[in-house]
Amino acid sequence: MAFKVAIIGRPNVGKSTLFNRLVGRRIALVDDTPGVTRDRRLHAARLQDLRFDVIDTAGLEDAAAPTLEGRMRAQTETAIDEADVVVFMIDARAGVAPDDRTFAEVVRRRGKPVVLVANKTDVRAAEAGVLEAWSLGLGEPVAISAEHGHGMAELRDAIAAAA
Ligand code: GDP
Ligand code: MG
Repeated sequence: MAFKVAIIGRPNVGKSTLFNRLVGRRIALVDDTPGVTRDRRLHAARLQDLRFDVIDTAGLEDAAAPTLEGRMRAQTETAIDEADVVVFMIDARAGVAPDDRTFAEVVRRRGKPVVLVANKTDVRAAEAGVLEAWSLGLGEPVAISAEHGHGMAELRDAIAAAA
């Protein structure tokens, strides 16, 4: 049976970009259709030889909680509980933001295996952000570019080790 990976993080760090890369172009295009995405939270994914199901945490606006923080938290906790492995993503170009620390705390409390991912490392300014990611206390950050496909071998190994 395939294990489940949830991609967690504050908005705009690049979760959907990685999600689309993992599930493949065909499904990503289908998901561009309004109203289709929200019904498909679990997708078959592949990263090199590794096969798993990936959980989408997009569509925060659909959740029931009254505040944005509440919605993010509720959806994040649901996804984490559903998952075997959590991929926690930050935007290394932006560095560690206060919301990243909030999310990291939620992830840590749930006690699931977590792979810390520092995205957008195709941008030169991201180097400092990768180093700063260590301060989240979630172990060694895996530097990737979801957009350009950099760091996928390292991400594969980190997910395999955590699963
Ligand atoms: P989400 O809100 O976490 O799902 O983030 P998205 O996947 O929608 O990405 C937010 C923005 O970051 C978009 O403009 C993406 O094109 C951009 N982005 C995502 N991954 C990368 C990356 O690896 N490098 C760069 N430079 N930009 C990226
Ligand atoms: Mg998204």
